[in-house]
Amino acid sequence: MDIVVSACLLGYKCRYDGKTNKNDKVIALGKDHNLCPVCPEVYGDLGTPRAPSEIIKDKVINNLEIDVTDNFNNGAKLAYEIVKMRGIKYAILKAKSPSCGCGVIYDGTFTGTLTSGDGITTKLFKENGVKVYTENDDWDFI
Ligand code: SF4
Repeated sequence: MDIVVSACLLGYKCRYDGKTNKNDKVIALGKDHNLCPVCPEVYGDLGTPRAPSEIIKDKVINNLEIDVTDNFNNGAKLAYEIVKMRGIKYAILKAKSPSCGCGVIYDGTFTGTLTSGDGITTKLFKENGVKVYTENDDWDFI
């Protein structure tokens, strides 16, 4: 099965601080499945390392108070183009991220507080019928 995965979960150092969110359980899926890494924030030209961002209402703002909404939207669209081109139906994306979070994200106060909601890429994937899980979920599709 083809599964699109947040690149940072696979060990790519694409997190905002130049680190990774390497997850051995996700990586182990690669033995039996085709894992397709994407990093929407890098695709959106934000570079690594970069200032951390959070969703505030309908905008994405970084901690320097710069509006990066267009970068996030462009990165999400590019990630979805890859998913569409490959006909991928399932995603495992990094929990809580303003791009990749699913169901729970940071609340826009940069205080580590969580709120309900989806990241920008997750929202686009879901709107287009891709089933999104985080690294912490039971992957019932496998
Ligand atoms: Fe990981 Fe997604 Fe953030 Fe890229 S945008 S570092 S894939 S959580």
